[in-house]
Amino acid sequence: YASNLQGYAPICLGLEDFYIRRLYLRIQDCFGRPICSPPDAWFDVVERVSNDNNKTLKRTTKVSRCLNLGSYNYLGFAASDEYCTPRVIESLKRFSASTCSTRVDGGTTTLHSELEVCVANFVGKPAAIVFGMGYATNSAILPVLIGKGGLIISDSLNHNSIVNGARGSGATIRVFQHNTPSHLEKVLREHIAEGQPRTHRPWKKIIVVVEGIYSMEGELCLLPEIVAICKKYKAYVYLDEAHSIGAVGRTGRGVCELLGVDTADVDIMMGTFTKSFGSCGGYIAGSKELIECLKYTCPAHLYATSISPPAAQQIISSIKVILGEDGSTRGAQKLGQIRENSNFFRSELQKMGFEVLGDNDSPVMPIMLYNPAKIPAFSRECLKRNVAVVTVAFPATPLLLARARICISAAHSRDDLIKALEVISEVGDLVGIKYFPAEPNKE
Ligand code: PMP
Repeated sequence: YASNLQGYAPICLGLEDFYIRRLYLRIQDCFGRPICSPPDAWFDVVERVSNDNNKTLKRTTKVSRCLNLGSYNYLGFAASDEYCTPRVIESLKRFSASTCSTRVDGGTTTLHSELEVCVANFVGKPAAIVFGMGYATNSAILPVLIGKGGLIISDSLNHNSIVNGARGSGATIRVFQHNTPSHLEKVLREHIAEGQPRTHRPWKKIIVVVEGIYSMEGELCLLPEIVAICKKYKAYVYLDEAHSIGAVGRTGRGVCELLGVDTADVDIMMGTFTKSFGSCGGYIAGSKELIECLKYTCPAHLYATSISPPAAQQIISSIKVILGEDGSTRGAQKLGQIRENSNFFRSELQKMGFEVLGDNDSPVMPIMLYNPAKIPAFSRECLKRNVAVVTVAFPATPLLLARARICISAAHSRDDLIKALEVISEVGDLVGIKYFPAEPNKE
């Protein structure tokens, strides 16, 4: 039965309701008919209560205003912004909410062209192509890049959109142990000889797919090592920067900047606009030839309506703020703030005795609960105290590795973080998830 749930990620605020409902639907599916009246549980509807960078949310059903520790709003652009918002409103008036056309049939506005140049320059590649959805960027692009006769070597904890794209491509798929370069090399060696030219091996193409920051682990990719191995075995590198672009690196340019990797060594750079940029959509950046080829052959480019113009404008404007091209230092401040907030929160949680996954500088911070039975208690008790956390369980994680996943934002103030820490500490004692001794207070 559990395997029936594969591919579904029960991630939500107040997970128990979601889980029960999903289970009900799956059981009903197995029986082929309704089995009893459905449980009265579904997603909470949330309401925007203030223009505070998506920092607080109001659940219309259960509790009132709470501090949002679950949003991917890394730089706080999911808010009315003094630079972005007037321009987004202007673009809505000028271009409307939708082009109602595909890119090739009149759906490419001047904004779309500007966005692609802007993204390519920002991530450090010669060209880029944008899509209306981040998830679909992975799942639609991989089948265009590779097919039967090709080999995809994928990190074992890659996002579902990658898994889906890889499966849809028809290529042979091999998985390497999460973020373990030595195992990647072992898998490569099992399939090709070192130094064999691309033209003389049994694979039309080999693509290694990794993420910049792993969304359920908060871990930074060991990119320098992975890039070196791919060079040695002449495999292409595909990097999903959904959680790292805009969020890490001195100027927000992601893990390449943070870890000192030359972007020329990453063949295909993918990312989404739904996190640091406060918008929606996804991109692929690469060589001019690659992007040109995608523009002529990718069905998601040829047959899907182009990204909404106001969403495109939001991305252009937020990148300008990040780079200081708005004439202010707000971008640099936001980048400094998210780093400071993330490192403060992580080290305080560790001092309290929690087991926190991930690396310094990463705004993604999973707190290990292990036992899935602790999930409802943890999320419910946090919510009672007006702190909203996302809890994650099987099949998004292995069965006994349940966790609460905190996402830190530059928009969180020090007071917000201190309040959240107090609540998490109290609930941590209640639920019994402080697995290490607390560090004595230095004062
Ligand atoms: N890649 C990764 C690594 C993700 O975590 C996500 C979703 N959070 C996506 C792709 C899909 O992006 P989007 O939500 O923008 O569709």
